[in-house]
Amino acid sequence: MRFKYCPECGAPLSARILGDEGRVPYCEVCGRPYFDMFSSCVITLVANESGEVLLLSQGYISNKYHNLVSGYISPGESAEEAAKREVFEETGVEISSLEFAGTYWFAKKDMLMIGFIARADKSDIMPSGEVDSAGWYAADKAIDMVHPEGSVSHALVKLYLEKM
Ligand SMILES: [Zn+2]
Repeated sequence: MRFKYCPECGAPLSARILGDEGRVPYCEVCGRPYFDMFSSCVITLVANESGEVLLLSQGYISNKYHNLVSGYISPGESAEEAAKREVFEETGVEISSLEFAGTYWFAKKDMLMIGFIARADKSDIMPSGEVDSAGWYAADKAIDMVHPEGSVSHALVKLYLEKM
């Protein structure tokens, strides 16, 4: 998202040259720049001790493919905290470790997705209201259940299969 008006005072922004950044929208009233903005999200592959992957079925996202756990990072939260929180909120599963697994640009939604591979004991899943169903699936089956090649989910399951 590129700002045209100041989100604080509503004044139209002008373009100001800020060193190496080039022309940046700038509020002359508040005296500050507004860099282009995007959402920061986490996406977490949760695997259990048997090499099974936690997948969600969420009709509001897709009727065809399953999803890994993902969500927006709240202000004040680290990406790791967001990953743990989202997994617990959406599935009731408590993860025991978390490993950074790269970042991915999701152009369709102007989003930076921060990927993690998490470990958890195979426990009962308590899906939230946003989740139609959830389950543990063998990783080599899971790769065919998520959005195909090119998606962030696919990249993370592939990475996990290479590492397990
Ligand atoms: Zn302003």
